[in-house]
Amino acid sequence: MARKDFSIQAILKRLVDTPAKCKKCGKTALQGKLNLHHQDGDSSNNDWTNIVIYCDGCHNDKHDTIPKHRDEPRSH
Ligand SMILES: [Zn+2]
Repeated sequence: MARKDFSIQAILKRLVDTPAKCKKCGKTALQGKLNLHHQDGDSSNNDWTNIVIYCDGCHNDKHDTIPKHRDEPRSH
């Protein structure tokens, strides 16, 4: 049983202890919607070391996927 299981409650508690803000641009929850990004792409791996906080914009950036909002102009 080597796998570490961090409950979502533990993560939320951590977020309360440390003011949540986007790792990339520093945006806080008051300035934009924050997302929990799973670094290894496994959304069930809730180990704290696997989770990084990004705002919506930086999170989309990180995943570099097809834009969900077609009305957002692309700059290239
Ligand atoms: Zn950001």
